[in-house]
Amino acid sequence: MTSVDATQDCIFCKIVAGQLPADVVATSERSLAFRDIDPQAPVHVLVVPREHHGDVSVLAAADPALLADMVALADQVAGELADGQYRLIFNSGPRAGQSVFHVHGHVISGAQLGWSPA
Ligand code: 5GP
Repeated sequence: MTSVDATQDCIFCKIVAGQLPADVVATSERSLAFRDIDPQAPVHVLVVPREHHGDVSVLAAADPALLADMVALADQVAGELADGQYRLIFNSGPRAGQSVFHVHGHVISGAQLGWSPA
């Protein structure tokens, strides 16, 4: 979904617009990658589309090419900042842990990762 109302108070829309600071590590024409403010791994980067969509479910239905663009940028970031091995996480919905409702993929890399999503 894209609407003026949805984007007005969206922190990631403000980062995309340059109205809030962020440590940007890579960009594409349609997406932006910046370091998470509270990193959970040596490399913890968020990849977001420049256009506002609430979560990955909405984006996958609305614009699969944009989702593919985000995944390509995530892969690029993991190759540039780590060894190209990474986890890409989309939290979709509050019960899955989503707290910012502008779709974003967490690129987690730079260490041997365990598996404990709960
Ligand atoms: P979620 O919980 O929605 O999957 O992930 C949101 C992520 O955004 C969290 O990991 C959180 O640390 C990060 N975050 C929240 N606010 C900001 C911010 O203003 N700047 C940056 N760089 N990351 C943020």
